[in-house]
Amino acid sequence: MDRRHFVRLALVSGAGVLAGSLTVYSALPRSTEVRSEQDLQNFDWGYLIDTTRCIGCGACVRACKAENDVPDTYFRTWVERFEINADDVVSVDSPDGAMSSFTSRDGEDARIVKAFFVPKLCNHCRNSACTQVCPVGATFHSPDGVVLIDKEHCLGCGYCVQACPYGCRYIDHSRGTADKCTFCYHRIHRGESPACVMACPRGARVFGNLKDPESPIIRTLHERRYGILKPDLGTNPKCFYVGLDMEVK
Ligand code: SF4
Ligand code: SF4
Repeated sequence: MDRRHFVRLALVSGAGVLAGSLTVYSALPRSTEVRSEQDLQNFDWGYLIDTTRCIGCGACVRACKAENDVPDTYFRTWVERFEINADDVVSVDSPDGAMSSFTSRDGEDARIVKAFFVPKLCNHCRNSACTQVCPVGATFHSPDGVVLIDKEHCLGCGYCVQACPYGCRYIDHSRGTADKCTFCYHRIHRGESPACVMACPRGARVFGNLKDPESPIIRTLHERRYGILKPDLGTNPKCFYVGLDMEVK
């Protein structure tokens, strides 16, 4: 998606669909129509994950793969399993990104005293390392707060892949460009939540407009304690985690 295309996509789909009837739990609420680039300023998209709800089923990973045609061996979202044993040793795994969920590990289960799942994806950082290192400005912040990649101008140099402290980017070798989660940008301006949000059977993933005080994401952020990943880095991420264990990095 190049910059002109992304604005055109937002305007065309926003005017036609955001005004429609949206009744699915995970659909976005009726919103201000997007008629001009200026209207995009009414949105600041954000994401919330309730780790206390995640069961590691991997439905979100499979939905993302299918929706975004993600190449084999790469992931735009994945789920990590954290296990802490009686000696306080923490182990983390994510076999195939949790595409097929998780299985027990032989001989280990009896000693595990705590276990939980943590889904991950691009944090759409307000202070993003990836955009800062791109030598041609091909990765950028949209006016509605999504970090996108201009595929027309991306060199595929991989600087952004190395710079991202969350491991959220990859090089799509079939296209020779960087790629990553876009918050399903093609869906959100049709009034649809990202595919991973729609797929989650536990409502562990919440997506919404941080500028809308009535949005479920803002209400949850007001009501629940939440954390962010790697707060010491100053990236100012827009993925918020409810129930985040201190062992999670
Ligand atoms: S998580 Fe990584 S790829 Fe996403 S905006 Fe932050 S630095 Fe960029
Ligand atoms: S679909 Fe929901 S419950 Fe299943 S792994 Fe993803 S976030 Fe967790």
